[in-house]
Amino acid sequence: MSMLRPLVLTLVAASVLAGCSLADQGRSLLGGEPESGPVAFTHSSGLAAVTLRYGNRDKLTQLLGSGIDLWSVDNDLMEAQAALNPAQIETARKLGMGISQLPDRRLFNRFDAGYHTYEQVASKLRALAQKRGDIATIVDLGDSWEKTQKRADRDLLALKIGKGSGKPVVLFAACHHARELATPEMVLRMAELLIGQYGVDPEITAWVDTREIWLVPMVNPDGHALATRGDSQRKNTNDVSGGKRRVGVDLNRNYATAWGTVGDSPHPESDTFRGTAPFSEPETKAMRDLMTAKKPVFLLTFHSYSNMVLWPWDHKDASPLDPRLPAIGKEFGKLSGYVAQQGSELYLNGGDDVDWAFETLGTLSYTIEVGSRSDGFDPPYSRVDRFWNENRPMMLYALKVADRPAGVFGPALRDLAVTEAGILVRSESPVERAEAFLGTPGASGTGIPLAIAGNEARGQFATTASRQLLWVHARGRNGEWGPWEVTWSR
Ligand SMILES: [Zn+2]
Repeated sequence: MSMLRPLVLTLVAASVLAGCSLADQGRSLLGGEPESGPVAFTHSSGLAAVTLRYGNRDKLTQLLGSGIDLWSVDNDLMEAQAALNPAQIETARKLGMGISQLPDRRLFNRFDAGYHTYEQVASKLRALAQKRGDIATIVDLGDSWEKTQKRADRDLLALKIGKGSGKPVVLFAACHHARELATPEMVLRMAELLIGQYGVDPEITAWVDTREIWLVPMVNPDGHALATRGDSQRKNTNDVSGGKRRVGVDLNRNYATAWGTVGDSPHPESDTFRGTAPFSEPETKAMRDLMTAKKPVFLLTFHSYSNMVLWPWDHKDASPLDPRLPAIGKEFGKLSGYVAQQGSELYLNGGDDVDWAFETLGTLSYTIEVGSRSDGFDPPYSRVDRFWNENRPMMLYALKVADRPAGVFGPALRDLAVTEAGILVRSESPVERAEAFLGTPGASGTGIPLAIAGNEARGQFATTASRQLLWVHARGRNGEWGPWEVTWSR
């Protein structure tokens, strides 16, 4: 060990010396190949955390094929953050990428107080289901891999919120990747919001009454247990197919669409190991079976990090042939402040949930990358409030348009109010027609008509003895009815 130490120090010193030109390296305004600094492997994982200036998407896809652990991508700067082993560093150098090392600290996970462990997630879901048994049920979707091996007792738990059946289904899922610590919190907070505001907030009440909402905060509970102990664990913990240093299957490379074709690895020690077959893992099987049974209108699947909203395809450049997918994705981008684009613009990968759900079920599927490059995988828990403020509006928008996603092409309404003079609502774009429903909405065009004046619509309705939901939407000049606004009738 003492023999090795001087060598390591030398490499680190060289890295520091190279640091004086780091600012220039990031820009490549100087022309030519981006500079590549020395890399020291001082972390016990045998990996180094680096920033890669990858030059173009195809090179990044090619490097991904060597099984690198890609953390984030910034398409504008053409910079990625990743963990690489020595062979992968050589591959990156051969591809002409610029490389600069990040601190080894990025290879640990810091599980800040406030984040929920699997046990805490389970007890929170139970408490919510107990509090509102009339609208919420806990569903056990299946065993984690360790439970199938009798090594641990963890289930894939879902909270189902809604009333009755036959309603449009919306699925929020998080933590396919264990160490992405902020992601279960988004789904948990949505569960708390829906339960806590039912009967209080008119829109929440409307969505709970008329949609079937599935919340799966932790798709990878075994990997998460490692992450809570400080491991930078991405995959599940399946070790039967090999892998000593970094066990597990990348659950988001294990779905059947384009499985094993691009952007994943056949090597068990790789962080993008795709598994031995599509749906080889109990966790992805459980998600497949849930989605096959429920055919969700929307899937929002939470990852970290990059502040991005991504939609299919991820495995090929072709357009997705459903104009609603990018239109709603761009709306999500506006609501969150995140960059919104088709996933394949970043790099290509097969085997993920969004491509599978869209291809197989037509589900409008979105990968949400929560947090910025400085947040990384394990930001302080205090950052979660901000993430929730960014993510909540788009999650609610998915619920809003779940009955008719093409509503994204119609007029958006705001400032809906019921006053002594009746209904008043404003539109952000020209409106041809507007109408209201009391209680539950009927077919478009059969509601109480409102009078249009400029970008305002007004109308009257017979007052009700009890408080009811009042639903309003409007039709634009393109003939599309827009999303619902909902308030209380009194
Ligand atoms: Zn992820």
